[in-house]
Parts: sequence; C-alpha cells; structure tokens
Amino acid sequence: MDFSLTDDQVAVRKLFREFAENEIHPVAAELDREPRFPRELFDQVGKLGFFGMRYPEPEGSDADVLSYLLAVEELAAGSLAVATACTMQSLMGTFFVHRHAKGEVRERLVAPALRGEVIGTICMTEPDSGSDLFSMTTRAEERDGTWYISGQKTWITSAPVADMFTVFARTGEKELSVFLVEKGAEGVSVGRAIEKMGVKASLTSEVSFENARATALLGEPGQGIASLREVLAEIRLMTAALALGVARAAFEDALEYSRQRSQFGRPICKFQAVQAHLAEMRTSLEAARQLTSWAAWRSDCGLENSEESMMAKLFASEAAVDICDRAARVLASYGFASEYPIERYLRDVRFTLIGGGTSEILRGNIAKGMTR
Ligand SMILES: Cc1cc2nc3c(=O)[nH]c(=O)nc-3n(C[C@H](O)[C@H](O)[C@H](O)COP(=O)(O)OP(=O)(O)OC[C@H]3O[C@@H](n4cnc5c(N)ncnc54)[C@H](O)[C@@H]3O)c2cc1C
Repeated sequence: MDFSLTDDQVAVRKLFREFAENEIHPVAAELDREPRFPRELFDQVGKLGFFGMRYPEPEGSDADVLSYLLAVEELAAGSLAVATACTMQSLMGTFFVHRHAKGEVRERLVAPALRGEVIGTICMTEPDSGSDLFSMTTRAEERDGTWYISGQKTWITSAPVADMFTVFARTGEKELSVFLVEKGAEGVSVGRAIEKMGVKASLTSEVSFENARATALLGEPGQGIASLREVLAEIRLMTAALALGVARAAFEDALEYSRQRSQFGRPICKFQAVQAHLAEMRTSLEAARQLTSWAAWRSDCGLENSEESMMAKLFASEAAVDICDRAARVLASYGFASEYPIERYLRDVRFTLIGGGTSEILRGNIAKGMTR
C-alpha cells in the first residue's frame, strides 16, 4: 500500500497552502465581520486554476480528485467561508452547465465560469423542501419550445453575486429536471443575504422565479436526480475536505497556543488533560484525512465510492466539529474571544454538518445499504 502523494499533488498542496496563508488567512476575520463576498480572492483563486481543476482540458486541467481535495483543504484552512464560495463555483455552480450546455450558451458561459469570471449557483433547497428534494414545488413548463420556471428557492450560495442559476424544478409528478436561468432574465429576483452564524462571507439568499425564462434545459427532462448522482459523491468528498481544512487550522492554533500559554509555572501543553485533547484532535484529524483520501483514491481508480464518500463526509464533519470544540477548550477564554479565530472556526465548522447531506441523512443512507 502506497500512501505517498505524487509530485503534482505535493505541488498543488504547496501552491494553495501558500496562497491561503499569505492571502486568505490575513483577511478572514475581516471578511467574517463585514461580511462580504471575497471578490478579489475569488478572482485570484480563478487565476490559480482552481475552478477548472476537475474539468477536462483545454478549459480545465483534468486534475484527479485527490489533488482537488488537497486544494480545497488548504483554502478551507485559510477561511471556510472563502473555500465554500470557491467550491460552490468549482463543483455545483458550473458542473451541470459544463456537462449539458450546448452551442452559443456553452461558448459564452463555460470557459469564463471555469476561470471564475461568470459566477454560478445551484438552486435546490426551498422554504419547505430541504433534505427531501422530491417535495420541491418549483415547476417548469414548456411553451413554444421555451421553458419557464416558477417557484421559490432559499439558502442559495453566491446568489447575491451570481450570473447564472442552475435550477432544479418539477417537470412531472415524480420528475425533476435541471435548468439554466441567467441573471437579468425577467421574473428572477434575488433576496437579501440571509444572516447566519458561520461561513458569513459565503453569501446565501433566497431566489424567486416568477415565470422566469430558462436559457436552457440542462440534460434530458426528468433526469435531474440522475444528473445530481453523477456529482454527489464528489460534493461529499469536497465537504469532507472543507471540514479537514478548518479542523486542521483549529488543531494547529490550539497546539501553538498550548506551547505558549503557561499556568502553574508550566506551559499548558505539559498538563495531561490538555495533552489528551491534542492527542484526540490529531488522531481524529488523521483518521478523517485517511478515510477521505481513500474514498478519493477509489474515485480516481474508477471504483464505486458512493458509500465511501458518505462515510468520509460523515466522519470528517463530525470529527471537525469535535476538533474545533476541543481547540476552544484549550484556549479557554481566548477561544471565546473574537480576537482569536477559534470562535469563528466553531461557528463556521457547523456548515460541514449540513452541506452535502446532513449527518442524519448520511447515517440513514449508509445503514440502508447494509440493511436492505
Ligand atoms: C450555509 C449554507 C449554504 C447552503 N447552500 C445551498 C445552495 O447553494 N443550494 C441549495 O440548494 N441549498 C443550499 N443549502 C441548503 C442545504 O442544502 C439544506 O439546508 C439541507 O439540504 C438540509 O435541509 P434543511 O435545512 O431544510 O433541513 P431538513 O431537511 O428540514 O432537516 C431538518 C432535520 O431533520 C433531519 N431529517 C430530515 N429528513 C430526515 C430523514 N429522512 N431521516 C433522518 N433525519 C432527517 C435532518 O437531518 C435535520 O436534522 C445551504 C445551507 C447552508 C446552511
């Protein structure tokens, strides 16, 4: 068994680690406080080629899944909010357009989206439809060869700055289809950014479609869920990598602090109780990384990885919440202070429990595979 990274993977990790340390980390607290979409960083991430990593050449760079996850982890170690906005663009926001758009629409949108110049979103969730996608009420109707969308979506990442919306809508009783709707189309309105506890600089808002004209149907009618399944495992691995990034940042901060802080005449890292936290954090971080890397490796080898990606996402996100919590305990009052990043990690990390499927849904799906 060979666990070593290739030279290319090491280079990707180095590139994004340096970028996150030098460019993202210094402004992460400010972006969280304001909060605002990190446009300059987003553009720079585009120039580093991140958005095209998982797409074929010449528009993309055809990187393997593991390389992509290494880049995601590094961005997330800099700021989970910035990484969330960037991963939305690189995966869900452009995936369906890249896979299905044709002709003029493809020419106009795909290459710019993979450079980050056109910002994409995915619109599935509705006020009364979250985990249960089939309960969505947004509908699409075809009239004279054009599709029109009506319905309300919510929690849409990057909607306030979006140029295009990938919209899931009902086209039949038990049928979901995917559509491309562009900013500026009549009947599309984007609400104010939702105020939330974490990943604040990754803006989310409601989007309403009132008889809005779709630019294109993406794929075949009724193939929405089949299309989603093509990218679902990768969305889950990407979320696991987001969790790894913020958890690693919390662990490293706690370790450093425990070496600097003295009480009772000794650095606190010399106390067994603090050491136990550090040992648990490091162990679960490594376990989460190995599980995620293994699922990514399976994907890169073309092996089935649906269950493996669910297990990786479930384990990594739950471990990350625990790691951020332990880091806060090590810093005690300084883990409670806005001056230190730990309280932001604690708020941000909870997003990883939700995106890509909640832990409860994932446990149910993993168990279903065993108990059929
Ligand atoms: C920061 C952020 C960004 C987001 N970005 C997007 C986006 O860009 N696009 C988009 O479409 N959506 C987005 N979402 C929405 C996200 O996908 C949904 O929140 C998620 O699908 C869960 O839906 P819900 O919040 O409505 O919870 P619900 O589905 O209502 O679940 C509530 C609780 O019930 C549990 N539950 C529900 N069903 C079951 C079941 N069958 N078995 C066991 N437990 C169950 C859940 O685990 C949870 O604990 C975002 C959410 C957040 C927080």
